[in-house]
Amino acid sequence: MKLLAGKTAIITGASRGIGEAIAIRFAEEGANIAFTYVSDNSAEKARLLEEKLIALGVKAKGYQSNAGDFAACEVLVNDVLATFGAIDICVNNAGISKDNLLLRMTPEQWDDVMQTNLKSVFNMTKQVIRPMMKAKSGSIINMSSVIGEMGNAGQSSYAASKAGVIGFTKSVAKELGSRNIRCNAIAPGFVETDMTSYLKEGEGAEKYKAGIPLGRFAGTIDIANVTLFLASNLSSYVTGQVISVCGGLNI
Ligand code: NAP
Repeated sequence: MKLLAGKTAIITGASRGIGEAIAIRFAEEGANIAFTYVSDNSAEKARLLEEKLIALGVKAKGYQSNAGDFAACEVLVNDVLATFGAIDICVNNAGISKDNLLLRMTPEQWDDVMQTNLKSVFNMTKQVIRPMMKAKSGSIINMSSVIGEMGNAGQSSYAASKAGVIGFTKSVAKELGSRNIRCNAIAPGFVETDMTSYLKEGEGAEKYKAGIPLGRFAGTIDIANVTLFLASNLSSYVTGQVISVCGGLNI
């Protein structure tokens, strides 16, 4: 039996990177997938992903929707419920970084990061808990970052947003555990995606790898597999936790 057979998952920011890998991994395990992206440039990628997921034998649909916009999330979740009939799993994955030293960081850069990385998690969680409470079950997985635990020079806004995600996750776990709704966070280290393309080659990359006990950056599949664990009943007694998937970077 597939781990997510008969379940419906909503995944934000799945046109690329970690979100795309999660969508594919979940579909391989039988989940129907509603996923989002935000930019017009990603519409074609989203269409191709939709096709790929459907070819895996599940129902799938991509939505252009800004996770940082509360009203847009309300519309999205209502549309997904009308099309799929349920939301069993929500992966709050959409995120950006606008790195800058604090001396140079503008209020606009700060606000953009907070809106996309933290307010989005509030926006989506607030919507999906309604159907989950009705169903008396649900799993919410929030994408934090090892930077939210450790901090990093030049990433104060990103670190603050990702630390905020952890506090939110633990609070929601306490609020909704009695309703059989679990809420956990994942704290990836460096993952090979567009977000970290600046780390791909050269001396810089080697310097970062030297600080990682496993000696390599993560592939998106490394994060997708842990997300699958948290989405499935394999983790039925796990809530309010932050699982670091960072090759040991944080020890
Ligand atoms: P990525 O390759 O840059 O992809 C980001 C995804 O988020 C894209 O699908 C993008 O859609 C979507 N997105 C951005 N803003 C959005 C918004 N306002 N509404 C809806 N979707 C939006 O990023 P990634 O590396 O896969 O990162 C995914 C998550 O993991 C993020 O939360 C990130 O902070 C976290 N993370 C990443 C790393 C890493 O090393 N890569 C490490 C720790 C944590 P478009 O294609 O339309 O732009």
